Amino acid sequence: MIEVENLSKIYELDGQKVAALKGVSFRVKKGEFVAIMGPSGSGKSTLMNLLGCLDLPSSGTYRLGDIDVRTLNSDQLAEVRNRQIGFVFQSFNLLNRSSALENTELPLLYNGTSDSKSLARDALAKVGLAARAKHKPNELSGGEKQRVAIARAIVNHPAIILADEPTGNLDSKTGEEILKIFSRLNREGTTLILVTHEQAVAQYARRVIHMRDGLIVSDSAREM
Ligand code: ADP
Ligand code: MG
Repeated sequence: MIEVENLSKIYELDGQKVAALKGVSFRVKKGEFVAIMGPSGSGKSTLMNLLGCLDLPSSGTYRLGDIDVRTLNSDQLAEVRNRQIGFVFQSFNLLNRSSALENTELPLLYNGTSDSKSLARDALAKVGLAARAKHKPNELSGGEKQRVAIARAIVNHPAIILADEPTGNLDSKTGEEILKIFSRLNREGTTLILVTHEQAVAQYARRVIHMRDGLIVSDSAREM
């Protein structure tokens, strides 16, 4: 489903080049649950942004299903992102003035789905937040905000969910609840790639990729 070969990303900032990814290769099969770990600055978010079609690599190839992502223009990239990928961030990235339901509905508004309200309600119910549909982000706890963000990520039934430190702003008990939701979504068939610092995630993920200085230093499947 995902095939990454020799992917690199060089950022240029004030004439200075930063090699954030220095050639990473791996494959992810449909239905896998992969955890990505590694110290701050090792390139985890850069990799997630490339996998999520939020950015393009400097070199190397990224295949998503049958598509070579480098051949897509920005409209096509947005389309792939919207249809196939759900993204969950550490900082939730919710619209503060919109309710939980409106935040969840957002991806559907881009593709003009007619029954977006009821689909958004279904997604909120899936993360146990049906009773909070009218609440705005400032009326929700951190864990609830992240559950809204997960509802928004799954509302289009994406094949892949990418989560970049989704438990980073949560206490460990709440983080565990969020991981359980991801784990359930994975058991239901969603391919999941999750960046985390939490050792506890190894309990859920069947495969852990460790990164350092823009490279993959280990990639190991775990016995379940
Ligand atoms: P991680 O998520 O593992 O902490 P990142 O992928 O965010 O690492 O960053 C990898 C390296 O790339 C770091 O040295 C960081 O400073 C640099 N970097 C990340 N984003 C940018 C950017 N937009 N412009 C310039 N440098 C960046
Ligand atoms: Mg990061």
